[in-house]
Amino acid sequence: KEFSGPFSLSRRLKGLPPISVKALNHVTLDVKRGETLGIVGESGCGKSTLARCMVRLYEPDGGAVRFEGKDISTLKGPERRAFNRRVQMIFQDPYGSLNPRMTVAQILGEALSVHRMRPKTEIPARIAELIELVRLPEDAAHRRPHEFSGGQRQRIGIARALAVEPEVIVADELVSALDVSVQAQVVNLLLQLQEKLKLTVVFVAHDLRLVRHISHRVAVMYLGQVMEIATAEALFTAPRHPYSKALLDAAPDLDPENRSRAVAATGEIPSPMNVPPGCPFASRCPYVFDRCRTERPLLTPRGTGQYAACHLTDFGAAEPPVPASTET
Ligand code: SF4
Ligand code: MG
Repeated sequence: KEFSGPFSLSRRLKGLPPISVKALNHVTLDVKRGETLGIVGESGCGKSTLARCMVRLYEPDGGAVRFEGKDISTLKGPERRAFNRRVQMIFQDPYGSLNPRMTVAQILGEALSVHRMRPKTEIPARIAELIELVRLPEDAAHRRPHEFSGGQRQRIGIARALAVEPEVIVADELVSALDVSVQAQVVNLLLQLQEKLKLTVVFVAHDLRLVRHISHRVAVMYLGQVMEIATAEALFTAPRHPYSKALLDAAPDLDPENRSRAVAATGEIPSPMNVPPGCPFASRCPYVFDRCRTERPLLTPRGTGQYAACHLTDFGAAEPPVPASTET
């Protein structure tokens, strides 16, 4: 998929006057069939907006999201319905996205009938199959969402997405609302399902530890832009962008030996309504220099499959460069 160009977020839905925010800017990335692409960044970096653009919940006002080469905003009729079935989103909040009045069987049955996945007579068997697939208790079918734990509710959400046999799952903060121990179970389930069903997964999260565990490749976002894309291995062992490095160094489970070399991002995050003209990270980057404030760095290759948007093209290549003086 590719997405580029300015994107304005309308506040019309909330009844607010239409100001525009560039929630995403010059984002270009692709998702390969069968991979898990992690998208990480601090809150407000545009990762959820990007996820929503991918499933056409938001329409960008510039650029395009392409699925199998086709701009998804141009899909109509059967093609659009096929897209809506093949690409499924799972939301962060299982409480809000499941109808409390419906039983699990009704929730799954509804998904199956909207997309006419099965003849009526086969629906109960398919529901039992889905319940088993996500490892919910056998008697789950006739219970309602409030009778389940948070982790189980997220499993219901996964089953509902899988009911229509999608090829792509976009999961936005899938487990952020869950306890750490439950997070691992749900993430492992997703990993197993991804392999078993040959799913392509876009995994949006702010938790680096989870993203590393689950992703083949990772895109790091900051202020609506992609700062770095790399394999999970490359990103976590040799980040090539100062922001990725700062994000990793700030992660609590960092090996203490590396801490002495830590890059700390200081300074304010600029408002998304007032993104600076040069590098979006310039106000917090310890390596900032003149060019960074005027010229926006583009994503350029840094060796096999790794891309970074930074004017310091050898950042992270060998020894980290010496930070510029502590000016901000
Ligand atoms: Fe830092 Fe400049 Fe690179 Fe931006 S372009 S990350 S400000 S060194
Ligand atoms: Mg979000």
